[in-house]
Amino acid sequence: MGLSEALSKPGQLIADMVQITKLDDFLKWGRSYSLWPYPFATACCGIEFMGTACSDMDIARFGAERPSFSPRQADMILVLGTITYKMAPVLRQIYDQLSEPKYVISVGACASSGGMFDTYGVVQGIDRFLPVDIYIPGCPPRPEAIIDGLVKLQEKVKSQGLEERRREVMRKIEEINEKNKPLVVK
Ligand code: SF4
Repeated sequence: MGLSEALSKPGQLIADMVQITKLDDFLKWGRSYSLWPYPFATACCGIEFMGTACSDMDIARFGAERPSFSPRQADMILVLGTITYKMAPVLRQIYDQLSEPKYVISVGACASSGGMFDTYGVVQGIDRFLPVDIYIPGCPPRPEAIIDGLVKLQEKVKSQGLEERRREVMRKIEEINEKNKPLVVK
């Protein structure tokens, strides 16, 4: 549309320039494109995440290029690798220190299910003590798969209000506590 044509239709010009949205949707959109990760890397999946953050894959396209090594400045925790029972309380404490609303991505077979380490020392899936939002399959998952998981989390953040989020986390934590109750034989 040329300038003179645009000026002859001021209503159309304003409609093209202005987008109206709800404040809530605007905040959700903003949060979904600034998810700062806390990478909790214990094994080879951590190297794959480093590849994802490098220029070839460029995770900055999704606003998640700023790794935070302080949980208080992170929005999501990526668990990358094997988690042992000795490590689990430390990981849970770090999760508790993340600011709300916070999200968990389980990256790779080891974090999601223990992977090949079906041993007495390895937790068989971090969802035994953390409310996981996204599971990324693979051993190791390729950077494309990690980005796919991130995009799925962005969609979730965009579609979920804070109150709905709070209720989902409470429900998952209750389920975890129920599963972890000590077995009492009477
Ligand atoms: S899932 Fe595979 S690549 Fe990832 S930490 Fe486990 S063994 Fe390593």
